[in-house]
Amino acid sequence: MIKYADIVNESVVDGLGVRVTAFLQGCPRHCPGCHNPLLLSSDGGTEIGEEELADLLLDRISPIHRGITFSGGDPLAQPDALLNVIFLIRRRNPALDIWVYTGYDFEQVKNLPVMRFIDVLVDGPFIQEQKDLRAPFRGSVNQRIIDVRKSLESNEVTELVI
Ligand code: SF4
Repeated sequence: MIKYADIVNESVVDGLGVRVTAFLQGCPRHCPGCHNPLLLSSDGGTEIGEEELADLLLDRISPIHRGITFSGGDPLAQPDALLNVIFLIRRRNPALDIWVYTGYDFEQVKNLPVMRFIDVLVDGPFIQEQKDLRAPFRGSVNQRIIDVRKSLESNEVTELVI
């Protein structure tokens, strides 16, 4: 089972290209200025099966979509359920790229099994003092847009140049 709050059908702000974005419920942090404070409590949201969520997301995919993004809340607060959802998506549509937003640093989560199925991780907490509206796809400039496969292979963080 996995808890989610909302799904956006055509987002252009949660990663490259047009994307379906799933906002998962629950985050252990309370960053001042959090963009989604209603999604922090793990009591809220809707609980559904992992296959059901994968179906909901894939049903929204059309030829204009490049991939699926998981935001929140913190998707990595539900790492095993997220792994199952991404696994099912990859099996049915391997052409989609998968972005995940998290408040954890890459170094803290790099050994989670789900990481092997993620293309891009936007990592780190939101820091209000480092907020920059010109920075694409992130709230504050401390957050890194990480090529996960390359970073795991080289054991060194490789950031996407955007
Ligand atoms: S990590 Fe993200 S969702 Fe969690 S409190 Fe910070 S800004 Fe909000």
